[in-house]
Amino acid sequence: MREETSDVLVIGAGPGGLSAAAAAADAGARVTVVDENTAPGGQIYRQPPDGLVEGRAVAGRDRERGRALIRQASHPLVKLTLDTTAWGSFEPGTVETLGPDGAKRLRAGVLILSTGAYDRSVALPGWTLPGVFSVGGAQALLKGQHIIPEGRVFLAGTGPLLLVVASQLVGAGADVVGVADAVSTGRALRVGGWDLLHGRGLLLDGASYRASLIRARVPWHAPAIPIAIGGRDRVESVTIARVDESWTPVPGTERTVPTDVVCLGFGLVPSTEFLRLLGCQLSYQTTTGLFEPVRSEDFETSVRNVFAVGDGTRIAGAIVAAHEGRIAGLAAAARLNLLSPDEAVSRSVAARQELERLAKFTAAIERMYAPREGLMSLAEATTVVCRCEDVTRADIEGALGDGAMTLQQVKSWTRAGMGPCQGRMCELNVVALTARRLGLVAEAIGPLSARPPVKPVALGDLAAE
Ligand SMILES: Cc1cc2nc3c(=O)[nH]c(=O)nc-3n(C[C@H](O)[C@H](O)[C@H](O)COP(=O)(O)OP(=O)(O)OC[C@H]3O[C@@H](n4cnc5c(N)ncnc54)[C@H](O)[C@@H]3O)c2cc1C
Repeated sequence: MREETSDVLVIGAGPGGLSAAAAAADAGARVTVVDENTAPGGQIYRQPPDGLVEGRAVAGRDRERGRALIRQASHPLVKLTLDTTAWGSFEPGTVETLGPDGAKRLRAGVLILSTGAYDRSVALPGWTLPGVFSVGGAQALLKGQHIIPEGRVFLAGTGPLLLVVASQLVGAGADVVGVADAVSTGRALRVGGWDLLHGRGLLLDGASYRASLIRARVPWHAPAIPIAIGGRDRVESVTIARVDESWTPVPGTERTVPTDVVCLGFGLVPSTEFLRLLGCQLSYQTTTGLFEPVRSEDFETSVRNVFAVGDGTRIAGAIVAAHEGRIAGLAAAARLNLLSPDEAVSRSVAARQELERLAKFTAAIERMYAPREGLMSLAEATTVVCRCEDVTRADIEGALGDGAMTLQQVKSWTRAGMGPCQGRMCELNVVALTARRLGLVAEAIGPLSARPPVKPVALGDLAAE
C-alpha cells in the first residue's frame, strides 16, 4: 500500500475544508485535501466541469464566491487530491483513499473532517419511481451539468434549500407546476422570531427567492406535504395534503397534481460516517432529531487531533462552515507547533465573532423547519424504506415483531442500511419505525454504526493494489 504523509489532512473541499486548508497552510503546515468530486467547491460552490459552457445564471454570485475561496486555498503548501474517495481508517492518523492513481494510505498529524451533508430521505408511497429526485440531486445536475428535469416539475418539502432550488429551476427555465411546503411562511416567521435578524443578508436572499416564484406565478401550497407519488413506470402525479402542527395529513384535504418530476427536500443530514468510524462521540439534538459531534471551541472532536467543521457536523450553511474551517485550521497549526496558541486565537477573533452572531440565526432556522412526527409515518406496509436492499416497512416491522430489540438487530435481520449508501437514505426512517415500535425516543435508538467502506469503492480497485 502506497503511503503519503502531510501535516494536516482535510477530507472535503467545500467551504469548510478549503478554509481550514488555507488557514493551516498560511501558518506553514503542509496540507492534503481530499475530495471525491472532480472539482473543488463542495455543494454550494459546485463548479461545472472544464469546457462546459456557462448556462443561464444558475448560481451567479455563489459561483464567484466559490472561485474566490478556491483561489484562497491555491497555496503552494496545499495539495488538492480530487476525484478521490476517503473510504476507511484502520489506525489513528491514517485514512484510506481511492482515486484515479489507485489506493493510498494518507497519514497526517491532524485530521480535519469537512464532509458536508446530504438530503434527508423520506419514505412515502411512490418515492422510488423514476422521476423522483431529491432537491439536492436536482440542484447538483443543474449546477454541475446544466441539466433541467424534463417536463412538469413539482417540489415538496420544507426549509431553505427547497426555496433555493425551486427558484433556481424557475430561473433556468424549468416548468415548475407547484411547491408544497410543510411549514407556512407565517408560522416560520413566528417561530424564527427576532433571531432571524442575526442573518439579515440570508433572510433577504430567501425573500428574493420567494419573490421570483411569485413573479413566475408558481402555485404555493402550505402547510402541505406529499403523501403519495403516483405513476405506473414513472412519475405521473403527486398527491399532497394539508398538515396539522405535527405534519400529520388532515383527512379530506388531499389534492392530486399531474406532474412528470417530483423533487423532495425535507432538509439536510450531516455526513457523520467518518466521525462514527473514528469513534468520535456524538450527541443527539432534540430539535433537528440528528446526531452531531461533541466539539471543543476549536472544533476538535472527542478524539484528539481529529477536528470536524461545517455541515458535516451541524447544518448551518456555507458561511458558518468557512469560519469554522478557519478556526480549526489555525488550531491544527497550533497543535503542530507552527503557531503559538495565542497567535491561533488572535488570528481567529473575527471568525469567532461572526459565528457568535450567526448562531442565533442557525438555531432559529432549525426551530422553523424541524421535522415533525407525521413525516415519518407516510410509508405504507409495501413501501420500500431501504432502497439499496429493497427492504419494506413490513419487513422492518416484521423483524421488530420477531423480537429485534436494537437498530443493529433490525439492520442485520433485514439488511436495511447495508447497501451501497450505507444507510444514508434509510437510516432516519428505520430509526423512526424502530423507535415507535419499541416505544423509545430516537435518541435511545442511536445512529447506525459505520463500517469501512463508508463510501462505495470497487473491491477490484483495492485488490489491484
Ligand atoms: C445537496 C446540497 C445542496 C445545497 N445547496 C445550497 C445552496 O444552493 N445554497 C446554499 O446556501 N447552501 C446550499 N447547501 C448548503 C451548503 O452547500 C453548505 O452549507 C456548505 O457547502 C457547507 O460547506 P461544507 O464545507 O461543510 O460542506 P460541503 O460544501 O458539502 O463539502 C463537503 C465535501 O466533502 C466531500 N466529501 C464528503 N465525504 C467524502 C469522502 N468520504 N471522501 C472524499 N470526499 C468527501 C464532498 O464531495 C464535498 O465536496 C447545499 C447543501 C447540500 C447538501
